Amino acid sequence: MTAGRFAPSPTGPLHFGSLVAAVGSWLFARSAGLAWLVRMEDLDQPRVVPGATEQILAALALYGLVPDGPVLVQSQRTALYEEALARLRDAGLAYDCACSRAEIARAASAPAAGDPVDAEGPVYPGTCRAGIPPGRVARAVRFRVPQGIFCFRDAIHGAVEEDVSLRVGDFVVKRADGLFAYQLAVVVDDAAQGVSQVVRGADLLSSTARQIALQRALSLSEPSYAHLPLVLTPEGRKLGKREGALPLPTLDPARVRTTLGAALSVLGQEAAGDSPREMLGHALHRFDSGRIPRTPVLQEVP
Ligand code: GLU
Repeated sequence: MTAGRFAPSPTGPLHFGSLVAAVGSWLFARSAGLAWLVRMEDLDQPRVVPGATEQILAALALYGLVPDGPVLVQSQRTALYEEALARLRDAGLAYDCACSRAEIARAASAPAAGDPVDAEGPVYPGTCRAGIPPGRVARAVRFRVPQGIFCFRDAIHGAVEEDVSLRVGDFVVKRADGLFAYQLAVVVDDAAQGVSQVVRGADLLSSTARQIALQRALSLSEPSYAHLPLVLTPEGRKLGKREGALPLPTLDPARVRTTLGAALSVLGQEAAGDSPREMLGHALHRFDSGRIPRTPVLQEVP
């Protein structure tokens, strides 16, 4: 296990928020003497934008970020996810589910006081845990989440614990549309790529316990984790493609430098140098993960 990684979804060009994740993962990997890998998370094919993969890799290179190994593409790895799913099924840890979203929402619509409500939807009520009700057809496949608390240490956020069975419930590993879910693919690929260090945006902090549950069920090693601050728009929303984040500048070298400097500053690191490579080298030399903020950062995007 010897690598860190950056795992963008090729649903559009790289924007400032993803540059922060790329630079942060690169700094963590390099400062630990690890390789830095890139993986294209293109499982959600309906959202994939043709040409975005090449555009992202070209933009990363302009910012001085060149992966140390082949770029792995998730849509080409279905056989591996199928195999992991078969292992879960054989162990009795995955089951077919016939429920629609609307049914789950209805079943969970009368939460008792104090019931947790997951930001990503209601907790799965376990309807199909003991088998699909007669007359119904299998739609998705769910992971049977073990009861109990999953704990991990995040390099930025400290100790994190979560009872996945209470907060999320049995979650989907293969979707009703036949696509493998992010949670399963990320765990299988991190293990296959020898990823020992996962550094990414804080929006995925709430996915980590689910991923650890899957790593344990599949007997995979557990990487270390660091969740980087999100960048907020002036309206206080997470900067992302849905907020209409602009593509990173790539044509004007001065703007590339300013943008890279702003990404380093979001991470609390020093920016100095005449080229992206020099700037990254300088930041790496002085890298101090203790200066990375825990809370989202309001940053004007250059
Ligand atoms: N593909 C995910 C994203 O673009 C990141 C997944 C990860 O780093 O684990 O948000």
